[in-house]
Amino acid sequence: MRNWKSDIQNQKYIFALIMSKSTDEVFKNVIAHAKEYGFVFPSSEIYDGLSAVYDYGQNGAELKNNIKAYWWKAMVQMNDNIVGIDSAIFMHPKIWKASGHVDGFSDPMIDNKDSKKRYRADQLIENQIQELTDQYKTLQLDALILESDIQNAEVIRQTTIDMSQEQKLLIDAVEFDNLEKKILELLKSEELLKEKKKQYDLKLQFLKEETDKIQSDFDFAMKGDDLNRLKRIIIENKIADPVGGTRNWTDVRQFNLMFSTQMGAVADDADVVYLRPETAQGIFVNYLNVQKSGRMKIPFGIAQIGKAFRNEVIARQFIIRMREFEQMEMQFFVRPGTQADWFSKWKQTRLDWHLALGTDLNKYRFHEHVKLAHYADAAFDIEFDFPFGFKEVEGIHSRTDFDLSQHQKFSGKKLQYFDPELGEDGKPYGNYIPYVIETSIGLDRMFLLTMINAYEEEDLSTEEKQDSRIVLRLHPCLAPVKAAIFPLTKKDGLPEKARELMDHLKTDFNLQYEEKDAIGKRYRRQDAIGTPFCITVDHQTLEDNTVTIRYRDTMQQERVAADDLGKIIGDMVSWKNLLK
Ligand code: ATP
Repeated sequence: MRNWKSDIQNQKYIFALIMSKSTDEVFKNVIAHAKEYGFVFPSSEIYDGLSAVYDYGQNGAELKNNIKAYWWKAMVQMNDNIVGIDSAIFMHPKIWKASGHVDGFSDPMIDNKDSKKRYRADQLIENQIQELTDQYKTLQLDALILESDIQNAEVIRQTTIDMSQEQKLLIDAVEFDNLEKKILELLKSEELLKEKKKQYDLKLQFLKEETDKIQSDFDFAMKGDDLNRLKRIIIENKIADPVGGTRNWTDVRQFNLMFSTQMGAVADDADVVYLRPETAQGIFVNYLNVQKSGRMKIPFGIAQIGKAFRNEVIARQFIIRMREFEQMEMQFFVRPGTQADWFSKWKQTRLDWHLALGTDLNKYRFHEHVKLAHYADAAFDIEFDFPFGFKEVEGIHSRTDFDLSQHQKFSGKKLQYFDPELGEDGKPYGNYIPYVIETSIGLDRMFLLTMINAYEEEDLSTEEKQDSRIVLRLHPCLAPVKAAIFPLTKKDGLPEKARELMDHLKTDFNLQYEEKDAIGKRYRRQDAIGTPFCITVDHQTLEDNTVTIRYRDTMQQERVAADDLGKIIGDMVSWKNLLK
């Protein structure tokens, strides 16, 4: 008996798998779109670019600022026990010794002796695991299609048998023979399909075992910082140089990711300064300044948005892995022993921040760190389902009292907090070095996530004509331009009226004025940068001060009083919609 329910599920699954195959294409289109519409440009492009460095264009800068504003408001403005700072990029070099970055902030690197190319050993292995996973998915898709072929064959055979029994009495011997032959043929092809399916199942099982083995070997090697083991995994699994194709590898070595430069005129060792690889240390070394000047009481947080620099061994996937990027970090100082509770609270709060933008929960997942950083006693990543797989966007780390203790040790300055609150024994908690929960999100990864989530190639074809549009369905609060104002034509005083409207509204909203091309074309340009409203000023506006407002998502238009525009736009782009 055919199981229709599971058939439908299978078909949905097959469809999802087929769709996932074309996501590469979508990603390429998003990158091209980001450039074409002034969101992201390769840095120094007229000099052929600078690897893993990007510039944000006119719309990109607006979108980025809006993401920053959303984060800052949610973290600082909405929490009276969190304040924001802006510390310098250059800091005393001892800070990086104390934090462990000079000795420990490195990636395992391996060189190919033939191509002379350098790779991250962990990424080579991760790519191999990804490749096996992709092979598994493709094979699984083929197996599912085969499964449905078998079910189809079964149905046809059964129908033919039923028919043959009904027709037995009606048809002559020759016809009956033919029918019998047909059934035999169907049986044979069904057998063949089943045999093929068995082979697929075996291959699937093999691939799964292979992938699990490499993954557990890899986790073990990473956890123990075992460079020899990493090399062994690469050799045993015949991982080849993605460029040169050979397997002539050096040993795996550690490579420090910090950029260094010289401060002052005399170039000796004492003058070496680093470009910060994270913004967090600027918070730790200011912890006491902020606590004292702001009379902050534990628990409290310090937030900061700023540039960070990492000399990534290999930078890929557009703005996912850059050498200069931006972080939005918050260090939350808590009483020792309460860190586990705060950790789970911040994990949830941060996920909620992402979901408030309307993103499907299924696009996110938590990933627990196998190998904890030297400072952490717990760490989870919030990962997003990018077109190239799940990737970290944000880290939630329980950093213990490691950083403050180290800075106390290296600076010789007391960084303790006096907690006057009474404990269960009726005595004040007294002096201690606070524990820290960190939330650290990459602004550029959040930017890419937002673009990918919003990007849609919408088919608008009707029976009469083919049509389509590219629309960025950005949350209105994040949209670079809130509304575009168009005069219907360039004459009859319409541009002047449109400009007048624009002057009235531009103190509150980022607007764009456009008078070139037909209205339809102007709509498409605004859809492509995610502008939620287009407002058209026409001859009727001059008579009754009404305009046409067109909504990006529904493409519906309505006539409204020009005096109501401030409220209509304001309601839609209000931060209240996100921060409720
Ligand atoms: P990954 O494992 O991807 O290298 P990480 O664990 O080193 O990231 P963290 O040190 O936890 O990253 O930094 C916090 C956030 O900063 C990350 O979640 C990510 O969004 C962002 N980030 C880190 N490195 C880069 C980079 N090279 N380019 C862009 N963003 C980055």
